[in-house]
Amino acid sequence: MKELYLNGAFMPPDEARISVMDRGFLFGDGVYEVIPSYGGRFLGLEPHLDRLDASLAALRLANPLARETWRSVLQRLIGTPPAPDQYVYLQITRGAPPERDHLCPESTEPTVMALARPIKPRAPTVAERGVTCITRPDIRWLRGEIKSISLVASVMMRREAADAGALETIMHRDGQVTEGAVSNVFVVTGDELATPPKGHLLLPGITRELALLLARDHGIRFLEHPIPLETLRGADEVWLSSSTREILPVTRLDDRPVGTGLPGPLWRRIDALYQDYKARVREGHV
Ligand code: PLP
Repeated sequence: MKELYLNGAFMPPDEARISVMDRGFLFGDGVYEVIPSYGGRFLGLEPHLDRLDASLAALRLANPLARETWRSVLQRLIGTPPAPDQYVYLQITRGAPPERDHLCPESTEPTVMALARPIKPRAPTVAERGVTCITRPDIRWLRGEIKSISLVASVMMRREAADAGALETIMHRDGQVTEGAVSNVFVVTGDELATPPKGHLLLPGITRELALLLARDHGIRFLEHPIPLETLRGADEVWLSSSTREILPVTRLDDRPVGTGLPGPLWRRIDALYQDYKARVREGHV
């Protein structure tokens, strides 16, 4: 990484410094976004920045940068087309007041950081064999729609998944599927595609929204409604969606095959639509 952005300046990463009093460090008091780019062009930049505004508003933080400034900062981090595929990670915390107190003086300047990292290309085995998940109770807080940097429960869930040889943990609360530790979840039962509805229990994923848009535009019927855990377990197909991992077919869940145990036909269709959309982003057509 050549440079990152911190509080108004671009600098080499080893020159970037923040205070130990930073509220992100002491309280996890901040929000973040992860935005993918292909060939130097962002996929979903505006919806990601809209979601950032919503997360900031929930924490009663003003957005420290104007939308236009965000666009130019983030574009500089990924370079100009044609550039490698990268995502930007950006984070805003409530800043570093002199005292450690849950209440923070309103005059505190936020800390703003952004950097770009390469997107790892998907392994060919994903489309051939799919990925493995485990299920666990959703032990997180009840404001899952906020993209908060307080992620310790998700860190625990991803660790449990890795220890079980799985990619992701799909969580459930009161018998209903919520989402993955770092992804949204879709299920296919017969010819019905469904995903849990937006609300306080899950992050409104930008990839989730794009998958639904592509489904709608191509005549794939879907429902946004609660998904009982038994429906997940009995599904013909299960998918995960996230900005850096795209749409993934889940073929094993808690050590049992999902459907035939291979990526399903509807996943192949949505993945083709998604790959086509990405190609259009890369060419600057969307
Ligand atoms: N749900 C959670 C908890 C996440 O952390 C993420 C992404 O990191 C998602 C869903 C997917 O969101 P998006 O598609 O906007 O990347």
